[in-house]
Amino acid sequence: MKIAVCMKQVPAESRGSMNEETGVIVRAGLQPVVNNYDLSALEAALRIRECVPAEIHVFTMGPSKAEEVLRTAFSMGADAGYLISDKAFSGADVLATSYTLHRAIETAGQYDVILCGRQTTDGDTAQVSGALAQWRNLPHVNWVSAIENITESAVTVEQTVEREKVRLLLPLPCLLSVEREGFLPRMPSLRLKMAAGKKKITVVTLKDLSDQDASHYGLNGSATRVRKIYPPPRMQHKPLFSGSPDECAELILRETGMG
Ligand SMILES: Cc1cc2nc3c(=O)[nH]c(=O)nc-3n(C[C@H](O)[C@H](O)[C@H](O)COP(=O)(O)OP(=O)(O)OC[C@H]3O[C@@H](n4cnc5c(N)ncnc54)[C@H](O)[C@@H]3O)c2cc1C
Repeated sequence: MKIAVCMKQVPAESRGSMNEETGVIVRAGLQPVVNNYDLSALEAALRIRECVPAEIHVFTMGPSKAEEVLRTAFSMGADAGYLISDKAFSGADVLATSYTLHRAIETAGQYDVILCGRQTTDGDTAQVSGALAQWRNLPHVNWVSAIENITESAVTVEQTVEREKVRLLLPLPCLLSVEREGFLPRMPSLRLKMAAGKKKITVVTLKDLSDQDASHYGLNGSATRVRKIYPPPRMQHKPLFSGSPDECAELILRETGMG
């Protein structure tokens, strides 16, 4: 079985990291760490490998420093690491990030299971995994809190929706986004940690992808632009709107001064 795990490097601090003028995340001086939720995605992969023979490949998209994500993954037990890094990929929103991940994963072949974290702690949209599943035409379940059984052709998972638990049977290949609860990441092993520094990392750039049209990646391939970024004003009153979704959106924009 082949398992792909998507892991992102994020700034450790969550406050004071936005330039309000430009709307760009200020990453300089911020300690980068592995997105906590993605350590749980890797933990889920490792637990699958304890049940069935499997190879675990980790994919991270980011600057060259994001290589650290792969070294951490190696020290926990990942078999191979892919650093998706190219100037053409910078400034990507959800659409462009998920498309780049899709094309990069494609370069390494077919996977039975793709695992993502629930969300990141910087972008925080929790949309990349769903979009990636769509690009790859895979069944997708989020909020996975347990993997109960896995065979060569199917997986049974527990999904936690608010306080309810749902048991789902999915055919493979599929994409799962996992919760932190239920997949507490293991500590890196000393033996693997010592070997991690020497392990080969495959760098994936635009020229490696089957679609080399630069307008599909990074800022150029992004459907969204940050218009303004600001701490929301504290509202004294909490208005309730009624009407169609479009009418309500209009009212919210007007109320928040964005309309
Ligand atoms: C309003 C706003 C402004 C932003 N401004 C900027 C900006 O100025 N500069 C900037 O650099 N970014 C910016 N971003 C972040 C950028 O859009 C996100 O990094 C990108 O869209 C990924 O989405 P996410 O972080 O929300 O991932 P989520 O959807 O929360 O992530 C879900 C899962 O997908 C996987 N995943 C996500 N991203 C990656 C990755 N890169 N590599 C591997 N796996 C991944 C992980 O498993 C993760 O747990 C902004 C985001 C928002 C919402």
